[in-house]
Amino acid sequence: MKKVLEISNLKKYYHTMSEETLALKDISFDLYEGEFISIVGPSGCGKSTILSILSGLIEKSSGTIKMEDKTIAYMLQNDSLLPFLTILDNCLIGLKVTKNLTKENKDYVIHLLNTYGLGDFINNYPSSLSGGMRQRVALIRTLAVKPDILLLDEATSALDYQSSLAISEDIYKIIKNEKKTLIMVTHDIGLAISMSDRVIVLTKRPSEVKNIYQIELDNKSTPINNRKDKNFSKYYEMIWRDLDVHV
Ligand code: ADP
Ligand code: MG
Repeated sequence: MKKVLEISNLKKYYHTMSEETLALKDISFDLYEGEFISIVGPSGCGKSTILSILSGLIEKSSGTIKMEDKTIAYMLQNDSLLPFLTILDNCLIGLKVTKNLTKENKDYVIHLLNTYGLGDFINNYPSSLSGGMRQRVALIRTLAVKPDILLLDEATSALDYQSSLAISEDIYKIIKNEKKTLIMVTHDIGLAISMSDRVIVLTKRPSEVKNIYQIELDNKSTPINNRKDKNFSKYYEMIWRDLDVHV
């Protein structure tokens, strides 16, 4: 497999008027083409910070990030759809901002909306959609710019458990189907194991990599089926123990 990203000794300080916070102490990991990886860790350990650095939103303090000639797109923590724009216009924003709104690209977005069950809602406004559908729209908006690598931050954490299962199944299938590489961050251990080829576990802040697990299931399939695999609970327990501050 081809390595697309290599992160070494990433460190990040945040500075405010009164104090300095070390968010990331020492983060290193690789990413391979087509791979799905999850980063899990306690709340406030710096998961979103890693994605913000990778997407270029904020600067790292030190360390190196080597990336093949790949493009990255970031799906933020909440779906952040604009209420005054239609579903189609929401999905076209990235293309407009980057001045890539060609007929071909617009047709690609419409194709994605049709393929993933949103064709009838193209001219609707976000308020008329369910949480799961909005999440799918946000994903299609992210895919519109044809990124190689997708960054997903707590994509389902605002939803109830049943909806979270359903939308993670959708998200998984769409991203696999579109042959993308994925880095997602979550505090949800089950979600991480069920979605990923590898799970990277962080310590509490200032975070370091505590463990990296290659997820090997008997019948690797989609997230809902993966949760039924007999090895699932083995990984769940190991990661749960990694995250338990009392052990
Ligand atoms: P996570 O996503 O794992 O919950 P974050 O990456 O959001 O964690 O934050 C890591 C730490 O950095 C937290 O302690 C948070 O308060 C701090 N932090 C995040 N963003 C900023 C900022 N812009 N300025 C100062 N501190 C920040
Ligand atoms: Mg976060």
